[in-house]
Amino acid sequence: MNTIESAVSTDAKASGPLTDQSVAKQLLFGNVLEENLFPYPAINDRDREVLGMIVESIDRFLEGKQADFARWDRAARQPDEFVQSLRELGLFGLIIPEEFGGLGLSNAAYARVLAQTSSYDSSVSLTIGAHSSIGMKGLLLFGTAEQKARYLPKLATGEMIAAFCLTESGAGSDAAAIRTAAKRNADGSFTLNGEKLWITNGGIADFYTVFARTDGPEGKVTAFIVEAAWPGVSHGAHEDKMGIRASCTTTVAFNDVRVPAENVLGEVGKGFKVAMGILNNGRTGLGGGAVGGMKALIRRSVAQAQERKQFDRSISEYGLVREKIAQMTVECFAAESAVWMVAHYIDSGCEDYSVEAAITKVFASEAMQRTAYESLQIAGGNGYMRELPYEQYVRDARILPIFEGTNEILRLYIALSSL
Ligand SMILES: Cc1cc2nc3c(=O)[nH]c(=O)nc-3n(C[C@H](O)[C@H](O)[C@H](O)COP(=O)(O)OP(=O)(O)OC[C@H]3O[C@@H](n4cnc5c(N)ncnc54)[C@H](O)[C@@H]3O)c2cc1C
Repeated sequence: MNTIESAVSTDAKASGPLTDQSVAKQLLFGNVLEENLFPYPAINDRDREVLGMIVESIDRFLEGKQADFARWDRAARQPDEFVQSLRELGLFGLIIPEEFGGLGLSNAAYARVLAQTSSYDSSVSLTIGAHSSIGMKGLLLFGTAEQKARYLPKLATGEMIAAFCLTESGAGSDAAAIRTAAKRNADGSFTLNGEKLWITNGGIADFYTVFARTDGPEGKVTAFIVEAAWPGVSHGAHEDKMGIRASCTTTVAFNDVRVPAENVLGEVGKGFKVAMGILNNGRTGLGGGAVGGMKALIRRSVAQAQERKQFDRSISEYGLVREKIAQMTVECFAAESAVWMVAHYIDSGCEDYSVEAAITKVFASEAMQRTAYESLQIAGGNGYMRELPYEQYVRDARILPIFEGTNEILRLYIALSSL
């Protein structure tokens, strides 16, 4: 039984955490905020039931597709029929409330779903995760009732797939340096011009959350909902990447795109707050994915170490190999516990979890890097060959410390909070 599932059987919390306080920030003052740490969170009954069914259907659908994933990795493309199957499984509606046709999963249960898909293939998690964790998360967090009614039902079925458009050629870590501009027209609408870079789902999305300059007294950046079908919206070719190759990464360009005033997401000039709100809230998805990848690798490494014989013994008998497996297990357990805890803070209505979310992203992404590296090492030369999935895990994992905020920037943020 894993950490998340074992949490299921613990008693529900009597009183819940102090929602106006942050465990990590208190720790920076040397305080242990026991109210928010104990008891360890439990999953609610409804989530447990739905989660069980989703995990089972993911297993049924993805099991046995390893050769397809390797082929799609080489071809750098997920077939349309496969994306259609993801729609039919309901995997685009995971966190959308039931009233809009989604499954209404909590942040914690969602992280668990991404762990399951990542145990098969990271690109699958990317397609689903870019949609839910960042693509349409802004609509859930900051959208008006009218915007939600208009878009959420289509996003829940996957009739519309979502993408998050922040990065530009001159604005990566320094997101405030974006140059895509939205000029306000006399009728209140905006005209959008600019180009976004490396957008996950860029080529298959119908719904873009776009950040653009609207320099004004209210602030510099505004978030907009932009439909791919509108005149002036286009995307570039599929990028040829090191890893997560089957996931779709493209540029997205806006050429004199008219965006109606009702498609402003949040408030005019407050787009930076929208972007950070989305990224903070979405980090547990990435952490959950890393945990799923680690578990799959630990399973493989244990089997590999037991099967392979050198010097007349199974290599699992050698201390240096055992140490690697022990370390992977330690890191996986710690990453899963932290991701689950932070997801629980989000689900409990905690207002300030940005440092905790940054910590889980840094730790889980780096734990996954080390696990992928050591797992390949245990497999030796076989691990380096493309017939086995180790090398793909290493390539796929390499993105984790780079996107959704580089680990350097997140470390700066953690340090800044303590200083
Ligand atoms: C496959 C892929 C998918 C992506 N998907 C999306 C997406 O869906 N939507 C989207 O908007 N973006 C996306 N991105 C962009 C991603 O978020 C950026 O690559 C990331 O934010 C880093 O920006 P950069 O690559 O320009 O690196 P830079 O900002 O140029 O940084 C280069 C290096 O310098 C370091 N650095 C920068 N500033 C500092 C500092 N002040 N102190 C210390 N170190 C610093 C960085 O940590 C990094 O190591 C994606 C990128 C890739 C590769």
